Amino acid sequence: MDQHISTADPHAEIREEVGKLCARFPGEYWRQVDRDRAYPTAFVTALTEAGYLGALIPEEFGGAGLPLSAAAAILEEIHRSGGNAGACHAQMYIMGTILKHGSPDQKKRYLPKIATGELRLQAFGVTEPTSGTDTTALRTFAKKEGDKYIVNGQKIWTSRAEHSDLMLLLARTTPRGEVAKKTDGLSTFIVDMKSALGRGLTIRPIRTMMNHNSTEVFFDNMEVPAENLVGIEGKGFRYILDGMNAERLLISSESIGDAKWFIKKAVDYSKERVLFGRPIGQNQGVQFPIAKAYAQMRAAEALLRLGLAKFEAGQPCGEEANMGKMLCADAAWAAGEAAIQTFGGFGFAEEYDVERKYREARLYQVAPISTNLILSYVGEHVLGMPRSY
Ligand SMILES: Cc1cc2nc3c(=O)[nH]c(=O)nc-3n(C[C@H](O)[C@H](O)[C@H](O)COP(=O)(O)OP(=O)(O)OC[C@H]3O[C@@H](n4cnc5c(N)ncnc54)[C@H](O)[C@@H]3O)c2cc1C
Repeated sequence: MDQHISTADPHAEIREEVGKLCARFPGEYWRQVDRDRAYPTAFVTALTEAGYLGALIPEEFGGAGLPLSAAAAILEEIHRSGGNAGACHAQMYIMGTILKHGSPDQKKRYLPKIATGELRLQAFGVTEPTSGTDTTALRTFAKKEGDKYIVNGQKIWTSRAEHSDLMLLLARTTPRGEVAKKTDGLSTFIVDMKSALGRGLTIRPIRTMMNHNSTEVFFDNMEVPAENLVGIEGKGFRYILDGMNAERLLISSESIGDAKWFIKKAVDYSKERVLFGRPIGQNQGVQFPIAKAYAQMRAAEALLRLGLAKFEAGQPCGEEANMGKMLCADAAWAAGEAAIQTFGGFGFAEEYDVERKYREARLYQVAPISTNLILSYVGEHVLGMPRSY
C-alpha cells in the first residue's frame, strides 16, 4: 500500500523571515565582531525584537509558544546564512529549566522580560576548571544561610556572561561525600548577575580561537536569595540533564546550518574558479569531498529531524539527540574541510568567511559535550555495554 510521506517543511515561513533578517548582517558584520572579539549586539537585538529568542516561551508569558523544531529552524537559518547563533542560543535551552522546574513566581518574574528582551538569560554556569566533563565533581558550593545562599567557587567557559543579565548556575548544596548518589546534592539557581557583579561575582573574559564571548566566573561569598533556587534543593543535576536533549538538538541544527553554508560556498566557488581551462568543480577530486559532505549532512539532518519529532511527541530521544549532535558536528566539519580545500589559498583569507566558519564549526566536536562522551553514551545506554568511566 502506498504511504504518503510528507516532506513539507512546517517552518518554511520562519526560515524565510529569519533569512531576511540575517541578510541585514552579512559576512562583513560577522568578520568585524570576530576581529574585535565583540558581542554581536545589533544582531541579538534584531533577533530579540523580531521575537525569535522568545520562540519557546509560552504565549501566556509573552513568547511565541513555538515547538523546539521552530527554534531549531531559527538557529539553522542563522548558521546557514553565514552568521553565528552562539551569542544568543543559550536562552533557548536554558529557559527550559525555568519553564519546567521553576516556581510560578519565577516564571512570572522572568519569562515575560526574557521574551521582550528586557532581560537576557544567556549564561549557563556548569563547567568548572577541575571537574570538566565530570560534572558531579564540581566544587562550587552554595551554603544556605537564612533566606539566602552564599556561593563560593569558580566556573570556566561561561559563555556570554558579560552580556547576560541572568545566569543559570549549577552548584553543590550538599557535599559529594554526604549524598547517596553523586548526582544528588546539586542545585540550580537563577543568579541576577547585574546586581551580583562586584559584590562577590567577578567575570574574566577568555580569548579563544573563535568569537564566543567565553569567560571565567569567580564567586566569592556571592549572595543569592533563597527564592532564586529552581525547583527542589539537591535535584538540580536532574533538571540540567532534562534540558540536555533540547540543547543537543538545537546545537545540531546550528551544525546543519554550518554544513549547508560550507557546501553552498564550496559548490559556488568550484563552478566559478576556472583553472586548466575548466571549472575546478569539474574535477572529481574537488567534487567528491563536497558531494560526500552533502550526503553526510543529509543523513545527520534526518536523524536530527527524528530527534526533534520524538522530543515534541514527548518520547525518549536521548539516542537521537546524542548521535545527532555527533553526526551533525561531523557533517559540518566534513563540509568545512571540503570548503577550505576547494577554496585553496583563498580559504585562509578572512574576506571569504570560510576560515571563520571553519574555526567556529570546530567547537561542536567538543562543546557542549565532546564526541567521546557521546560515544560512551551510545555504548552504555543504547548498546548496553559496560560503563567506561
Ligand atoms: C567556547 C566554549 C564555550 C563553552 N561554553 C560553555 C558554557 O556556556 N557553559 C558551560 O558550563 N560550559 C561551557 N563550555 C564547556 C564545555 O561544555 C566543555 O569544554 C566540554 O564539556 C568539555 O569539558 P572540558 O573542556 O573540561 O574537557 P575535559 O572534561 O577535561 O575533557 C578533555 C578531553 O578528554 C576526553 N574525556 C574526558 N573524560 C573521558 C572519558 N571518560 N572517556 C573518554 N574521553 C574522555 C573528552 O572527550 C575531551 O576530549 C564551553 C567550552 C568552550 C570551549
